[in-house]
Amino acid sequence: MTAYPATVLAKARTIRLLVLDVDGVLTDGRLYYLTGGGEAKAFNTQDGAALKMLMGTGIATAIITGRRSDVVDRRARELGIAHVQQGVDDKAEGLRVLQAQSGLDASVMAHMGDDVPDLPLFRRVAVAFSVPGAHPVVTARADYVTRATAGMGAVAEVCHLIMTAQGTWNDALARIDR
Ligand SMILES: [Mg+2]
Repeated sequence: MTAYPATVLAKARTIRLLVLDVDGVLTDGRLYYLTGGGEAKAFNTQDGAALKMLMGTGIATAIITGRRSDVVDRRARELGIAHVQQGVDDKAEGLRVLQAQSGLDASVMAHMGDDVPDLPLFRRVAVAFSVPGAHPVVTARADYVTRATAGMGAVAEVCHLIMTAQGTWNDALARIDR
């Protein structure tokens, strides 16, 4: 199993809420425009399973995305992601709303993002996660860049990292593998 840097594990130990960007984090960043209107996105089942495991350990999750898409609401509902904000131009403002909604301070949150609009969140949360192929400015500021790529298990890797840091992984796995 993957070994993570001790510095990142130490930072992730007190995280209570994981904030996720959508395009380029939960997906590979490509937007499928369908003939006749509508839009499609490809989400990853391993990311979904890992998010459910993480939430099962008492960690909350949230989505803050700049775009707006019905499929994001559907995916969030399916996974039980409680806090969803779409069409957010200013993610710092999105974070203020999330703090009010969740009753949690940014100091107990982690954010996973891939592009420049994610930087205000990186500035404010306790741990910043990014993905291979993210904007170089973003990867430079991340505490940890996943080995898995976006839309291909990167979110699952971060979930595993947080559970490993908090010592909840073995119990979470045992609840499934029995
Ligand atoms: Mg993005």
